[in-house]
Parts: sequence; C-alpha cells; structure tokens
Amino acid sequence: MSERVILHSDMNCFYASVEMLHHPEFAGMPLAVGGDPEARHGIVLTANYIAKKKGVKTGMALWQAKQICPEIIFVPPRMDLYLRFSQMAREIYSEYTDKIEPYGIDEAWLDVSDSRNLKGSGMTIAREISHRIKYELGVTVSIGISWNKIYAKLGSDYKKPDAITEFNRENYKDRIWQIPASDLLYVGRQTNKKLQKLGIRTIGQLAESDEKLLESHFGKIGNVLWAFANGWDEDPVCKEGYEAPIKSIGNSTTTPRDLENDLDVWIIQIALAESVAARLRKH
Ligand SMILES: [Mg+2]
Repeated sequence: MSERVILHSDMNCFYASVEMLHHPEFAGMPLAVGGDPEARHGIVLTANYIAKKKGVKTGMALWQAKQICPEIIFVPPRMDLYLRFSQMAREIYSEYTDKIEPYGIDEAWLDVSDSRNLKGSGMTIAREISHRIKYELGVTVSIGISWNKIYAKLGSDYKKPDAITEFNRENYKDRIWQIPASDLLYVGRQTNKKLQKLGIRTIGQLAESDEKLLESHFGKIGNVLWAFANGWDEDPVCKEGYEAPIKSIGNSTTTPRDLENDLDVWIIQIALAESVAARLRKH
C-alpha cells in the first residue's frame, strides 16, 4: 500500500486578508478585525501582518492594540463574507479531492492520495491550489504536506504566509524534531506545562521519550501524544459533507455589562436556554 498524501491548507490572517481586499484604501496600514470597541467583546479576532509586526495579537483587547499600535485601523467582523470566501476555497479544494475536512473557517485537510495519477504529486497539487487561491480569491495560504494529518498541520504552520512545506520520511526528523512540543495539535497550555516539568520541550524530545512514562503522567492522552509526535497518525480525512455526531449542546455568552441582580441573570439564562432548547429539538 502506498503512503497517503495529505495537505493542510491554512488561509493567512484570514479575516484581515479578506477585509484588506475590500478596503484598498487601507493598503500598507496596520489593520485588525475586532468586535464593537464600545462593547466588552472588543478583542482582536485577526490582525494583518503589518499590525502583527508591531506586536498586535489575536485575543488582545482593542484598547491594548491601540496602545501598542496607535495608527491601527479596526473593522468589525463580517462573518457572512468570510464564510463565502471559505466556501470558494472549498470549491477549489473539491477539484482535487472529495476527502476534505474543514478545521475552522480558514483551514482544511485534503487527502489527495488518489488524485496523484490525474493531478500530480502532493507538491504539484499544493502549488496549484496555492496559486489558484491567490489569483482567484486574492488571499494567500500556507500549505503543509505529509503522510499524516498531524505533520501536515505542522507544515502549514512551519512557514507563512504564502508558503508550502513538505515533511517526508527523509526530512521530518531534521525539520520537525526541533519544533516546540506546544505546537503539536492537542498540546494545550496545561499539557505543555506538565511536559516541561518532565524536561520535554520539543517534538523530538516527545517522540523519543519513554511511552510508559508519558502514559503514567497523562493516561491515554500520553500514548496519543507520543504517537502523534512520531507521525503515527492514521486518522482519516473525513469526506466532504461528513458531520461529526453531536455529543453535547451548550451555549455561553459574554455580557456587555456585569450582571447585578437576579433579574439580570434570569434574562441571560432564558436567552441561552432558548437557544440550547432549539438546537436540541433540531437534533
Ligand atoms: Mg489561518
């Protein structure tokens, strides 16, 4: 059986890139997409590279961003517009494979193993997709190529914007082993802290650590992380249209002001419960 060829495509600074396209008057200026600056939702969702260079980061409060980058321009998010771009990217992907698994609005895995006879190698396909998205949509992507989903995702993070990185059997140790373990999918802040305590800082150290030791500290997740670090990830790229079974339904919100009495709490609770109930009925 020949090895799988999986791409992970990630649109760079997605919201900000789409907004830059629609605001040519802001060319060359630092820009961030963020919520209403008056409300508490006022955080940076995405910043363009010019703003990032000045230190503006996703999740930062708008006032903080303004402090470190006074000339920054804020635009409110337009999710319907971003969804349309996401859909257009997906239409391009679907010309290369029917095995597409979106990861958020701006990323997707593509299994192009069966497309090689028709469309060429993973690298050829990646170049074509990158070129088409740039010229047909006007935004750039970074694409990772590997034989498994985990390494393909690391590849799309490895070099950006507008880059293609391939991790194959020949080069993966040279290139992946030095990457911080925290960049690995599913290594959150807490897990990373624990890994650091064990002296594990890089993916290479994780891959070459004792699996039993990881298991004793993390349980089953320890085995999974160890396998992922080694590139032993057989997880399939889900077919287009596949919907993961729903295991739970919930809702949360950030209120524009503090809740000060029972009535305040009651109103918010009813609003949240209604949305949860509607979705429960739907499913
Ligand atoms: Mg992205």
